[in-house]
Amino acid sequence: MTNKGLHFPIEEALAALEAISDLTVHKGLALAPFTQIKSGGPADLLVMPKNKESLLAMKKLCLDKAWPLTVLGRASNVLVSDEGIRGITVLMSPSLAAIERQGNQLLCGAGLPLYEIAAFAARQGLSGFEFACGIPGSLGGAIFMNAGAFEGSMSQLVTRTVFIDSQGQLAQIHGPDHDFGYRHSYFSDKPDVLIVEAELTLTPDEPQDIYDRMGVHAKKRYQSQPLAWASAGSAFRRPPGYFAGKLITEAGM
Ligand SMILES: Cc1cc2nc3c(=O)[nH]c(=O)nc-3n(C[C@H](O)[C@H](O)[C@H](O)COP(=O)(O)OP(=O)(O)OC[C@H]3O[C@@H](n4cnc5c(N)ncnc54)[C@H](O)[C@@H]3O)c2cc1C
Repeated sequence: MTNKGLHFPIEEALAALEAISDLTVHKGLALAPFTQIKSGGPADLLVMPKNKESLLAMKKLCLDKAWPLTVLGRASNVLVSDEGIRGITVLMSPSLAAIERQGNQLLCGAGLPLYEIAAFAARQGLSGFEFACGIPGSLGGAIFMNAGAFEGSMSQLVTRTVFIDSQGQLAQIHGPDHDFGYRHSYFSDKPDVLIVEAELTLTPDEPQDIYDRMGVHAKKRYQSQPLAWASAGSAFRRPPGYFAGKLITEAGM
């Protein structure tokens, strides 16, 4: 991620963004502290929206001015260049983090860390999200690539997603329209779309049983991943029926 060589009128954009309420703007801030692997140079302008309205206003401004916009959630699945990112970078997490229960469904902001949703669901006695408790991403990033682990994936739970489309309009899709596949969704090839919130449909269960399953998953991660270190996570897609690690070992590498 870089947009190297692009001309971008930083001061004009800074003034225009500062005129939008409920939006924090930083000029030239290093992105390394915001990424899970702790690397990455400065964003020309780093924007943190406090709500849907300020996000919409920012997106419309970018469209009007043809300014480049890069979207980051919790930056756990991106590698930011040491040269940083030209144009405007929007950090969706930790803001946009409202969460509300409606029956067996949770309406969640896209900036919510997955572990927060897992903890909330467990407290509420709603099962299904346990698999995601150790994935270090945000809900928006997880839907973008249909994150999954331990036989679970976002595709099993996400029943509706609200987003800002490439024209700057609020839109939503339901169920099969998400086009979920292995580490793929409707959003995967739409970098100009901003996921705002999503509805997750879960199943009632005993909170203690849910906590127990989360504990099993956490232990497996702890035993198999260097969690004490900054990490980029998996580098390889899983080939059908195999594990990349097993194939690499068998190849003698
Ligand atoms: C240690 C470690 C373990 C991991 N384990 C797993 C695992 O078990 N399973 C798994 O599937 N993944 C895993 N990952 C990868 C990563 O956590 C997931 O892909 C996660 O879903 C990415 O979310 P994010 O918010 O960090 O997205 P980012 O890295 O910030 O962004 C990834 C992509 O999503 C887009 N995006 C992010 N938010 C939005 C939004 N709101 N609207 C539109 N586009 C958006 C970005 O533009 C970018 O293209 C792991 C990563 C690490 C570092």
